Amino acid sequence: MIKTDVCILGGGAGGIGCAYRLIKNGLKTVVVDKNSDFGGSMVFSGVDGWEPGVSLDGLHKILYKKLSGMEKGCHVVAQSPEQSIFNRIGRDGWDYAYAFDKWPWALSQKSDFCYEDTYKRVPYRYSKRLQFDPKAFVLAVNEIFAEHKENLATLFGYGYKSCKTDGDKIVSITVSDGQNTEEIFADVFVDSSGDIVLARDAGCKYSYGTEGYEDYNEPSATIRSDRINAVSFVFRIAKAETNEHIDQIPKEFAAVDIADFKNGQMKHTVSCIVEYPNGDYNINMLPTMEGNEYFSLGADAEKICKARVWAYWNYLQTEKNMKGFTLTHIYDAGVRESYRLKGNYILREQDLRAGEPLDIKSEKIVAIADHATDIHGQNGMCKELEKPYGIPIECAMTKEFGNLFVACRGASFTHIAASSARLNRTMISMGEGVGEYIAEKFFNK
Ligand SMILES: Cc1cc2nc3c(=O)[nH]c(=O)nc-3n(C[C@H](O)[C@H](O)[C@H](O)COP(=O)(O)OP(=O)(O)OC[C@H]3O[C@@H](n4cnc5c(N)ncnc54)[C@H](O)[C@@H]3O)c2cc1C
Repeated sequence: MIKTDVCILGGGAGGIGCAYRLIKNGLKTVVVDKNSDFGGSMVFSGVDGWEPGVSLDGLHKILYKKLSGMEKGCHVVAQSPEQSIFNRIGRDGWDYAYAFDKWPWALSQKSDFCYEDTYKRVPYRYSKRLQFDPKAFVLAVNEIFAEHKENLATLFGYGYKSCKTDGDKIVSITVSDGQNTEEIFADVFVDSSGDIVLARDAGCKYSYGTEGYEDYNEPSATIRSDRINAVSFVFRIAKAETNEHIDQIPKEFAAVDIADFKNGQMKHTVSCIVEYPNGDYNINMLPTMEGNEYFSLGADAEKICKARVWAYWNYLQTEKNMKGFTLTHIYDAGVRESYRLKGNYILREQDLRAGEPLDIKSEKIVAIADHATDIHGQNGMCKELEKPYGIPIECAMTKEFGNLFVACRGASFTHIAASSARLNRTMISMGEGVGEYIAEKFFNK
């Protein structure tokens, strides 16, 4: 049995931000994650970069400072204007593409730009972003957290099992690593699990899929469906020993029947390719599989997705002149979206476009962002915003429990709002805002 002030389920972007503010405010905090360390999608799914966009000051700057002091920890990359072929049919808001057939990707490489340049939303082909090494990122988080180590306990390798509630309070959660089981009692709980496993299990209302226009009158909404943002298996490549090297597809993946993908989507796939500080490259294929197909396939999805990655990589090497590199790692599934809380306020596209929540006077804005609404896969779209918007604390508040907050991509957003708000730096910031709110309201800090 563990007793603590605050328990956070999930140590990804939202969980890291939240934990940082809580331990800094002197609150005893327990972080539980089924992964082996901090980082979530940023480390384990290979989303080891920060998209251009505004952010409140906070932990991201401290992380940047720490990472830039490490050898090959991070660097600012700039988009190559020629190889920025994001969209050959020219959807709203994107640059038109000219040479997709030659370079079916958007390439970003080491540059002399500074970190502040990564805050700016500029036309895609001029954008700058921060790329870091995932191992360095884990080190950086742990070093920063070590300054407040007396307040932090972590249970890595532990998965969520169940919770106990009493009226409008979460009393405890039970977690297990397969051998040991722990019941954690806390005054406040934060669900930063991405898929909001605690909030759903406790009985909070949630949504899944695409809202229809009739739901919230969002300007870009169409019909209600179970469609969710697509899933990508990001992979890493390194320079091979010879310039002519082409990887063999491993037998177990070559044997998977993915003819439909090879004959269809594969050659239309667009990738974000970003140089790592050590000269390797990160390839984020957009996408590997439609989101609902991925979830409906269950346990079979991973093998099929990895077979698609290998087929796609082979296509890039044999038809798009990417010889001389070797695939070194396929990261865990990158899930952009699943379940979303229906909390005290549901952030919608019109709130984003207005720059503020239109239907409430918020107690506190916990993060700001200005990323385009960005949906990958079938019926995808990318629409830039004209100005930044604020995310209110009410998007993190559950209606059902006074001591349960959600600080992750599964917070109270519509499908369209989530496609902008879910980004790494924004989620770190949202976690921080939620942490500060809890420290002040529950513990008078
Ligand atoms: C392919 C892809 C590309 C993207 N590209 C970019 C990009 O270029 N730039 C950008 O800024 N953002 C990008 N994003 C978005 C961004 O990476 C995520 O939205 C963000 O990292 C989500 O943070 P989070 O804290 O909500 O969730 P996560 O980082 O997923 O953290 C959730 C944590 O909860 C843990 N957890 C889940 N369930 C349980 C359980 N049952 N028990 C215990 N622990 C549990 C997980 O292990 C995980 O560590 C991308 C996302 C994807 C998928």
